[in-house]
Amino acid sequence: MKDTTIEIRWHGRGGQGAVTSAELIAMAAIAEGEYAQAFPSFGPERRGAPVLAFNRIDNANPIRARSSVINPDIVAVLDPGLLYITDVVSGLKQNGTLIVNSPKSLVDIKSEFGGPWKLAVVNATAIARELLGVNIVNTTMLGAVVKATGIIKMESLVEPIEERFGARAKRNIDACAKAYKEAEIAEPVAVRARQKREFQVEKWPAWQELLPGCVVIEAGSASQYRTGDWKSQHPESDYSKCIKCGLCYIYCPEGCIVPKLGEEGFFEADMYYCKGCGICAQECPKDVITMVEES
Ligand code: SF4
Ligand code: SF4
Repeated sequence: MKDTTIEIRWHGRGGQGAVTSAELIAMAAIAEGEYAQAFPSFGPERRGAPVLAFNRIDNANPIRARSSVINPDIVAVLDPGLLYITDVVSGLKQNGTLIVNSPKSLVDIKSEFGGPWKLAVVNATAIARELLGVNIVNTTMLGAVVKATGIIKMESLVEPIEERFGARAKRNIDACAKAYKEAEIAEPVAVRARQKREFQVEKWPAWQELLPGCVVIEAGSASQYRTGDWKSQHPESDYSKCIKCGLCYIYCPEGCIVPKLGEEGFFEADMYYCKGCGICAQECPKDVITMVEES
């Protein structure tokens, strides 16, 4: 039997809605009379952690496979940072399609991630922030995916989005339509030129090595995992308002807020481990800390 199944792999972070993207596209495909499935694969189950979701869509045969998608026809990347920490094109078929959410230009992304696949780039974060007010890019990215692949019709997404989002559907449909309009597309190139970001691993003192009088605050998973790679936002401080209360230091769930070097009483976040949860900004009583989008 001829293989008629199209497979999609979604790369996102917890909270960005990759699973919802997969579900919506499956519902739209089913509405068009195709066979479809959508399912997630979670790693650490928390906001900001990398997550995967998958689709299989087949216009001719029922789908019996239930395994993760290893050799996708289409890869969609919801978070720009994932490009540099995950091999998002792993197994992507020759002449497949890579769709990326990035503020970078098509030319720049192509120089880093171009290959024997069609490439589409859209600044879905900016669109979602403008039209939805949040960095949840699931419905926005659907517009880019539909434009780059034609796997379903745009109008087929309307009903699933209305069903899922109710009163918020109109804004989500608008975001999807805007991404469809703004996504830029490049055809496959023969040579794949990619660069991986290099990290410098630091050695932190063990708790036994701390000076007498130090308070030990046990960190979350940050010390074991480079959770700094997870963040889509980071904290920035206006120290002129800081009263040195230390609440940010106490409340950071990753224990990654540390005394600021050379400035007694002030604190700063270690970006290698900050996962951008925004708790420090919420807890600061003087609005010193603002969460800023990663560039
Ligand atoms: S955003 Fe603030 S509280 Fe959250 S991990 Fe980063 S420094 Fe800690
Ligand atoms: S919580 Fe705010 S005011 Fe308190 S030390 Fe941290 S930044 Fe300064």
